[in-house]
Amino acid sequence: MLTQEGISNDGQTQVDLARISRIQSKIGEYIRRAAKSNGHMAVLFVELGGMQDVARVLGRADARMLASQATRRLRSAVGEDGVVAPIAADTMVVLVPDLKHADDATLTADSIHMEMTRAHLFRGEAYFLQCSVGLAMYPEHGRTPERLLNNADAALCRTGESTGDHFKSYDAVEHANNTERLLIKTALHQAIEGGELQLRYQPRFSTQTGALLGAEVLLRWFNPVLGNVPPADFIPVAEDTGHIMEIGRWVLQQAMSQYRTWKAEGYILPALSVNISGPQLERGGLLDTLEQLEVSKLPEGMLLELELTERLLVGSTARSRDTLEALNNRGVRLAIDDFGTGYSALSYLTELPVSVVKLDHSLVRNIHRSDESATLVKSILALAHDLNMQVVAEGVEEEDQLSLLRELGCDEVQGFLVATPATAEGMEKLLPRG
Ligand code: C2E
Ligand code: MG
Ligand code: MG
Repeated sequence: MLTQEGISNDGQTQVDLARISRIQSKIGEYIRRAAKSNGHMAVLFVELGGMQDVARVLGRADARMLASQATRRLRSAVGEDGVVAPIAADTMVVLVPDLKHADDATLTADSIHMEMTRAHLFRGEAYFLQCSVGLAMYPEHGRTPERLLNNADAALCRTGESTGDHFKSYDAVEHANNTERLLIKTALHQAIEGGELQLRYQPRFSTQTGALLGAEVLLRWFNPVLGNVPPADFIPVAEDTGHIMEIGRWVLQQAMSQYRTWKAEGYILPALSVNISGPQLERGGLLDTLEQLEVSKLPEGMLLELELTERLLVGSTARSRDTLEALNNRGVRLAIDDFGTGYSALSYLTELPVSVVKLDHSLVRNIHRSDESATLVKSILALAHDLNMQVVAEGVEEEDQLSLLRELGCDEVQGFLVATPATAEGMEKLLPRG
C-alpha cells in the first residue's frame, strides 16, 4: 500500500489519525482563504489500483520505490500550491487551494488521472497503475473539512473501473438517492412480516356509461422509520434485490382473497387488475402462484387482469411469451401498462395475447390542450380497436380530458377525477351490490 514511507502498514492507525487531523487543519486554512477571496478549494481522494500486483512482481521493497516515484509524479501534477497526503492503503488526499473557477478542479483531477495511468518506468520496465479520483469542492459540496473529506470519499466510492468511470464529483442528489436506496433495501426485508404493506384499489369506469368496470390494485408501504415510501421508489429496489418475488406473490394472494370476499358479500366488480414486475414474469413461478390461487376457477363475472409494462413486453423472452400464452389460456386477461412511455409500437405486440392498452397519463395530460396529443391518442385508439383491444386512459384529472376521451371513443377511464385509490372499505362504498 502506498504511504509516505512506501509500502508499509506498521503503526498505520496512529499515523493515520495524526495525519488526518493535520489534513483537516490544512483544509480549514484553505477554506478560510477561499471564503475571503470568494473562491473555491478542492479536496480529492486519489486511489491507485494495481499496487498489489506490482508488489507481487517486483517484491515489496521495489514496489515501495515505485510507489514513491508515483507519489512524486502526483505531486508535480498537483503543483506547488497543492498538498498530497497519503491517508490509507493506496489512497491519497489531494488539496488544491485558491481556485478561481470550479472547473479548475476537474482539470486537476483529469491531469492526476493522466499522470497516474501513463507508464511508470522502473528498472527499465513499464508498469501501469489504475487510478480513481473523487472530488468535493468548497463551497459547493461542503463547508467544513469533515464534510469535504466525507463527500470526496463518497464520490470516490462511486467511481468504478468496470464502468470506465474513473472520476466523480460529489453529487448530493445521487448521494441522497443512494443512501435512501440503501435504507429501503434494508427495510424491505421485513416489510411483509412487519405487516407494513397494504393494498389500495383504484376503480376504472366505462367512458360511455359511467359504470364501474374494474379496479387496479396499488401497493402501499408504510415503514415506521421511512414513513410512506411510494411504489415508484421501492418497487425498482425490490426488483433489484429479488424481494419483488415475495412481495408480488403477497399482492396477488391478498388481492385475490379480497376479490373473493367481495364476491361472497355480493359486491360486483367485473375485473381486478394487478401490476406485475419484470422478474415475476421472467423468473417463473407466476403460473404456479396463480394456479394455487385458482384463478382459472373464478366465478362468472370475475376476471383477473395482469398489467405488464410496454417495455417489459417488448423485451420479453420466448419463455416469458409462453407464460403469457399460458396465462391467457387460463382466462387471465393481459394489459399493457404505461403505453406511450416506451416504443409505442402496438403492432409489434399483436403476437402477444394482450386485450387491454392502458394509455400512460403523460399521453392523456395534454389531449385537451394540444392537437398533436389528441391526434396521437386518436390513432392509438384506432389501431387498438382494429386489434380488438380495449383502451383505458390513465391519470384523467380534468373534465375536458374526460369529455374528449369520450368523444374519441376511449373505452375506460381511471384517474383522480373519477376516483382516487381507496381502501377495501372505501371501495365497498363504490361497488354496486347484486
Ligand atoms: P401504474 O401501474 O401506472 O399505476 C398508476 C399510478 O398512477 C398509481 O400510482 C396511481 O395512484 C396514479 N394515479 C392514478 N390516478 C392518477 C391521476 O389522476 N393523476 C396522477 N398524476 N396519477 C394518478 P402509484 O400507486 O404511486 O403507483 C406507481 C406505480 O408503481 C404503478 O404505476 C406501478 O407501476 C407500480 N406499482 C404499484 N403497485 C404495484 C404492485 O403491486 N406491483 C408492482 N409490480 N408494481 C406496482
Ligand atoms: Mg398499472
Ligand atoms: Mg400505468
